[in-house]
Formats: sequence, C-alpha cells, structure tokens
Amino acid sequence: MPLRIPICAFDAKTGILCAKCQAKLTAGQITDADIQVSKALVKLAEKIPDVNKMTLLRSFQVDGNYVLEVEQADAAIVRSKPEIKQKLEEQLKGKVWVIGSSNSDRRFLEDLFYPIRLLTVNTVWLPDGSKVTKAIIPGRRVERLSGEIEILKKIVKQVKGIELMVEFEREATLRL
Ligand SMILES: [Zn+2]
Repeated sequence: MPLRIPICAFDAKTGILCAKCQAKLTAGQITDADIQVSKALVKLAEKIPDVNKMTLLRSFQVDGNYVLEVEQADAAIVRSKPEIKQKLEEQLKGKVWVIGSSNSDRRFLEDLFYPIRLLTVNTVWLPDGSKVTKAIIPGRRVERLSGEIEILKKIVKQVKGIELMVEFEREATLRL
C-alpha cells in the first residue's frame, strides 16, 4: 500500500507542484507544512518501508516545529519505530510530533504529549467566562520539560484553538 499524502507523490519527489496541487495550495486547502512534510515522508519511505503504510492527513508548522496528523494506526507505527521521528526531525530541521486523527480533544492531547503521561484533562471556566483546558501531569515539576510544554501549548492553540494550562500533580495538590 503506497504512502498517502496531501499532494501527488510525484510532486513530493520532484519538489515541483502540478497545477492541481498548486491550486489547492493557493486555495488554502493544503499548506506549506503539508508540502514540506510530504517531501520528507516520500524520501523516508525509500529507507523505512513501514512509512509506506502511512496516511498523512494534515501537517502544521508551529515556530519551526512540525505536527503530523495521521491515522491512529500510523501513530502507533511511529511510536514503535523511533527512527521515523528522528529522521523526519533531521530532514525538517525542527521537532516533530505525530498525532493520530481523533475527534476527542483528550486523545489529541494524549497523543501530542506522549511520552509525557496526562493524569487528568478538564475544562475550566474562568471568571470572565472564557474556557481553558487544564491538563495535569503526574508527579512533581520537571524543569527540563518546561520548554517543550510551552511549545505544546502553542501547538494546541494553533491546531485545535484550545487554551491549554498545564500543571504538575504536586503543585495542583498544594493549591487545594
Ligand atoms: Zn500534484
């Protein structure tokens, strides 16, 4: 089964869009991130055959990092083969997160944060009537994760329009 991507495989190989794909880009149906990620995946499929089983649905670029939305089963392939993510990061020159397509915000957050585990995900209404989503990570604050969590919050905002708050279990308990 060949790799499925938002542009023609031929375009991804040559790096030149056909008239049809160019029209999709102009119309905003696909993005530059879709094109960059498609090119990288096509290249990678030559080296890692499992990549051919994948379907890339959408891609997002956030501050030079990439989020790939794929079918749920494909997200499992990527987790089982760390070299896929590693090679994509080398080619795209940014961090890469792979999420499985899902209607559930919780599932989306769990996929995105993996391997960081989420203890709870709740909706919180602020006094001004706005809504935020609060995710709690088990254990105490881990400083080395702070930079990554900031990027993840931006991704969640851009991809799902969700304002995300992240707390560690220990500090959440302290404030009760
Ligand atoms: Zn095309």
